[in-house]
Amino acid sequence: SMKSQWQIIEEQLDELVQASRRHAAFGAVPRYIPELASAPAEALGITICDLEGRTVSSGDCGLSFTMQSISKVFTLLLALMDNGEDGVFARVGMEPSGDDFNSMLKLELVEPGKPFNPLINAGAIAVTALIHGDTPEAKSARIAAFFRTLAGGSDLTCNESVYLSEKRTAHRNRSLAYFLMDNDVLDPSTDVEELLDVYFRHCAIEATCADLARMALVLASGGIDPDSGAQLVPRRYVQIAKTFMSSCGMYNASGEFAIQAGIPAKSGVAGGILALVPGRYGIGVIGPALNRKGNSTAGVHLLERLSQAHEWSMF
Ligand code: GLN
Repeated sequence: SMKSQWQIIEEQLDELVQASRRHAAFGAVPRYIPELASAPAEALGITICDLEGRTVSSGDCGLSFTMQSISKVFTLLLALMDNGEDGVFARVGMEPSGDDFNSMLKLELVEPGKPFNPLINAGAIAVTALIHGDTPEAKSARIAAFFRTLAGGSDLTCNESVYLSEKRTAHRNRSLAYFLMDNDVLDPSTDVEELLDVYFRHCAIEATCADLARMALVLASGGIDPDSGAQLVPRRYVQIAKTFMSSCGMYNASGEFAIQAGIPAKSGVAGGILALVPGRYGIGVIGPALNRKGNSTAGVHLLERLSQAHEWSMF
């Protein structure tokens, strides 16, 4: 009898993880956030879940790690729900930048100060500034509650030592934020240090591969909760988020990832990657060793192999 794709994934996942694990040796853990340097560089784990409620995991999928830039996809969704499209895209563009994630280049180009897109740091900081809430604490609480809902009620919390570690060493993000302030991309009433605090806190929200896979599954289903059937996020906003993931989700390696894997994905500097196959699967990957563009070396390899084996490319 014909095997289903799910059966083949289940049968082959361990082998694929073993083959990709070797690629961790070509990468290194980041040092610019000191607390991230202690992660196990050789680890690789993955969880895949589907819309019928099945889950498969392999490798070091028990690891917890901070979401880092993966959180930017979800703060974008919340900012869109709070402000609408016009409100968000008055402050941030829709184009890939082609530069490193924390780049200061090009911020003066096109419209002065307006970041190229919501997934580079400058753009993500501008988006975080749009999230509603009376105090920084209220904003952080709303963000965490939204993330938990998408993760199926999982108890996601901020890793305080990673948060503090980034806060202490974030000279570059701090300068990006003040630059945005100087260029009126931020509202004049913004307290930049408070804004950065909200940003560092959502980057430091800790998750597992299973949490990322569950969050990705909501995107794969166009914003629908796979358990309750409730529309958690308007379909249009999910479409916007998935488009940014396809064009900018792996930073300046997004073009290569589009060719090799062809699925929406978002990486973070703790080594996580959230990916999805539209209408089918949510995927969470962890591999802390990063390549020079800030993406998990083993994680990228694993996703490319999986996508090629199952012909997942949308292109
Ligand atoms: N918190 C990290 C930073 O702002 C997120 C960057 C990333 O994951 N690429 O530098």
